[in-house]
Amino acid sequence: MTNKYMYFIANWKMFGDIKSINSLDKVIKFSKNIRNNKFKMIYCPPHTLLYPFIKKLKNTNIMVGSQNCHHEENYGPYTGSISAKMIKNIGAKYVIIGHSENRSSGDTDFLINKKIKAAINNGLKVIFCFGETLLQKKKNLTNKILFNQVKKAISGVKKLNYIFFAYEPVWSIGTGIVLKNNDLEKNINFIKNKLRIKFRIKEPKILYGGSVNPVNAKNLRKINNIDGFLVGGASQDPKKFIDIVKKSFI
Ligand code: PEP
Repeated sequence: MTNKYMYFIANWKMFGDIKSINSLDKVIKFSKNIRNNKFKMIYCPPHTLLYPFIKKLKNTNIMVGSQNCHHEENYGPYTGSISAKMIKNIGAKYVIIGHSENRSSGDTDFLINKKIKAAINNGLKVIFCFGETLLQKKKNLTNKILFNQVKKAISGVKKLNYIFFAYEPVWSIGTGIVLKNNDLEKNINFIKNKLRIKFRIKEPKILYGGSVNPVNAKNLRKINNIDGFLVGGASQDPKKFIDIVKKSFI
């Protein structure tokens, strides 16, 4: 696909228990043995596994991120939440913000913008998710929706180079359906150009997420404006995750 840096992000969602840490052995071995080192793997396990993952992946080149954070950046009376400060404090480097599964349970554009600021203020890199629903796509609203989500999310954010833009069509997440390469390339170009021209980000990083697996990864590698993949379901199986890296990159 490319000779640039590629990012492979594993979003484990609400899956995994303490034994799942063993599944990292295969991935650690793979990342150590691979000669081409122009890629980065980032694991985003559930909060309960953040610290064990960080310990296990210490001294490897695999990074760890959280799947979400609260919009207040330090501490506070927010039962069940964790803040960007806490995530940074245990040694994670990334946080996913704006995932459609969190948008559907209350994350608004306003809160997402606050979360991004909280994360960056604490030195975390942000994996910001955006994408249209099937209805919006059918109504030909895709560009408008993508632009609005991005614009609102980054409004007033200073270090825009801390953000990875993960384009995730909502109708593609967990469904096995992936956009045709042409459409995917078109949507990614649209946002990449906006980020470059309107928001003056020199080299915006855009990832694709939505039902990526070892089979379609081979096809997705043909798209040369993608900087990596956000992988949900398939990332829980180390063999599949490694295969995605191999087929889409190596
Ligand atoms: C995701 O949850 O970000 C995702 C892309 O999921 P899946 O790969 O399972 O579609």
